[in-house]
Amino acid sequence: MSRPGQHAKPLPNTVCPLCGGANQCAPAAAGKFDVPCWCTQAKINPEALARVPAQSVNKACLCPRCAAGVPGPDPAT
Ligand SMILES: [Zn+2]
Repeated sequence: MSRPGQHAKPLPNTVCPLCGGANQCAPAAAGKFDVPCWCTQAKINPEALARVPAQSVNKACLCPRCAAGVPGPDPAT
């Protein structure tokens, strides 16, 4: 049984929802969660997370650059 709201297998979303670049998500690329991924070690910037479109939340990984909170095309205020 899988947890509610969780998929048994990672979705093949290998593109960052913020910048459209490769997110280097190992589970998405491998099709299973049983692989190490940079995102398990990285700190995800809360501001970057807040900018993820609702339909992509928990469905697509950010790329390392966006996860670190590096400003994207939008100028920071
Ligand atoms: Zn990105």
